[in-house]
Amino acid sequence: MKEIIISMLKERGIEIKKIAQLVYELQKPYIDVTLEDAIINVEKVLEKREVQNTILTGLQIDILAEEGLIKEPLLSIIRRDDSLYGIDEILALSITNVYGSIGFTNFGYLDKVKPGIIGEIDKAGKTTEKVHTFADDIVSGIAAAACARIAHANEKDHK
Ligand code: MG
Repeated sequence: MKEIIISMLKERGIEIKKIAQLVYELQKPYIDVTLEDAIINVEKVLEKREVQNTILTGLQIDILAEEGLIKEPLLSIIRRDDSLYGIDEILALSITNVYGSIGFTNFGYLDKVKPGIIGEIDKAGKTTEKVHTFADDIVSGIAAAACARIAHANEKDHK
């Protein structure tokens, strides 16, 4: 299942390495972490069933919207990434929920600042025919969860 998820993300322009790069940049100031650690932690997040289900669902909605296969008025709302829609964020929070409140805080930050791959995905959704309404939040969720995972592991090491 993890391999299906990884190739599905790739098809939507989301490389695991780019998410890991972002996680690495975010954690580097606080924790002794390598890019390799970041990749491992992103992959661990992708092994969780709840996370896989969220990714499958969110990316599928983006694809259906891109193909015009959702009924109005929802189709237009998703296509224009209406800021009052909010279901994309709610769905992605189920990724960070697995990792407690640190994951939640990280997600809020990433969703607001949209660094790295998150900004790229968001911009592509707004400037091309691609629909990335759920994708940017999913990437934020995965990155936030991986950061939380690293933070939790680090805390244990120091006790
Ligand atoms: Mg979104």
